Amino acid sequence: MSIAPAPSVTLDDSFARDLPELALDWQAETAPDPRLLVLNEPLATELGLDPAELRSPDGLRFLVGDAVPAGAHPVAQAYAGHQFGGYTPRLGDGRALLLGEFVAADGSRRDLHLKGSGRTPFARGGDGLAAVGPMLREYVVSEAMHALGIPTTRSLAVVGTGRHVHRETLLPGAVLARVAASHLRVGSFQYARATGDVDLLRRLADHAIARHWAGSGGGGAADAGLPYLAFFEAVVAAQADLVARWMLVGFVHGVMNTDNMTISGETIDYGPCAFMDAFDPATVYSSIDHSGRYAYGNQPVVAEWNLARLAEALLPLLDEDQDKAIPVAVEALGGFRPRYNATWSAGMRAKLGLPEDLDPAVAGPLVDDLLSLLARDHVDSTSFYRALASAARGDAEPARLLFLDLAGFDAWTARWRELGPDADAMDRVNPVYIPRNHLVEEALDAATAGDLDPLDRLLDAVTGPYDERPGLERYAAPAPQDFGAYRTFCGT
Ligand code: AMP
Ligand code: MG
Repeated sequence: MSIAPAPSVTLDDSFARDLPELALDWQAETAPDPRLLVLNEPLATELGLDPAELRSPDGLRFLVGDAVPAGAHPVAQAYAGHQFGGYTPRLGDGRALLLGEFVAADGSRRDLHLKGSGRTPFARGGDGLAAVGPMLREYVVSEAMHALGIPTTRSLAVVGTGRHVHRETLLPGAVLARVAASHLRVGSFQYARATGDVDLLRRLADHAIARHWAGSGGGGAADAGLPYLAFFEAVVAAQADLVARWMLVGFVHGVMNTDNMTISGETIDYGPCAFMDAFDPATVYSSIDHSGRYAYGNQPVVAEWNLARLAEALLPLLDEDQDKAIPVAVEALGGFRPRYNATWSAGMRAKLGLPEDLDPAVAGPLVDDLLSLLARDHVDSTSFYRALASAARGDAEPARLLFLDLAGFDAWTARWRELGPDADAMDRVNPVYIPRNHLVEEALDAATAGDLDPLDRLLDAVTGPYDERPGLERYAAPAPQDFGAYRTFCGT
């Protein structure tokens, strides 16, 4: 870290102040030759940053953590986590730093965080670095998720470091500058609980409540003087909604460990993630997910399992008497399934252009039968819902072409059309462009080799997902047959 001037940015450090036990002062490794690969100008402007300043040499040094703004106090955050079901008591930011928090006029805060900024004391055996490809994958997929209206951390920039990273081969290194409502994770609470220091756990919960639910008025448990129960219920609801939203667009996170699940309800830590093409609940992309724990269709139950781990961590705040705290936590966790089901069902009705008040006894079987048809015929989900809007307008052929079981499709479509679907409403919720796996690979490979054009074109398509545009046909099409089975790698 140098004392060269950083851009005129003001960052606060409330996390480090409130929770010093979870914040380790640290600094980024110097990047020998920082080069900007991609900058999110709209996000920069939203944050009050000057894009031109960020593009300058001092701006790049700021974006890789090399020039720290006055008053900022970079820290590596401590957390624990269940990884593929096994508990690790000390994970933490092994290759990341929280630079600080932007404070908006209304008092709300957003973290500025760097990933790939060098080894920290949490690095264990890791090198603390990140390669260009995985950082750009997070950039593309998180920005696509945001454009789809799905809560997510945002990507501000990816800067090549000029340093090589050893993976299976030597790869160019990069740092991702990420923005998030916070980086509080289920694993942050597991870590605090494991210290045995209930005061720390309470301060962490108070910090989270102040940060995410201040001014929400609480309701229910909060009004009843039970702020920590209200907090847990709010996280359960936020995660139920989030995972339902993933399921509606076919997003597979790939590594839903408790350290990769936020308290805010934002999607975080895009590693071996991918969007599903052909609808199949058993879809797994991660090369290390041998048992299919984080398969598409398992995501809701995994989220619920992770929230049970959060409940365990929070028990001392729910009641001093653990025997009384457990039934309280179990009841609150019981809110997950109805909330998930409600968000999923409302989302499916919207995808099918059907009214919100449609009788669940009609909507439920209609959706279940559709998903069976899609799975049996390996239909590309994204193409299907968009093509179905044509059927609502009177031309069923584009959707019909996607099926083998034509009689099954015709019978289902007749039932659905009886309900008077609204084609324009469908087009507002069913994307044309998602970050399809073959396009992501193409863009990352080209960027790794120094050509950023495919990345820019892909970003242009997926950040306007509902707006069909001439010339972008290949961004709407499923992978060519020769793309083969897709695998993503955690070796990020
Ligand atoms: P992730 O799978 O990226 O969510 O990371 C899980 C844990 O491993 C976190 O504690 C990370 O900080 C750490 N980690 C991942 N990759 C590296 C790396 N290259 N160097 C150091 N720590 C890492
Ligand atoms: Mg992680």
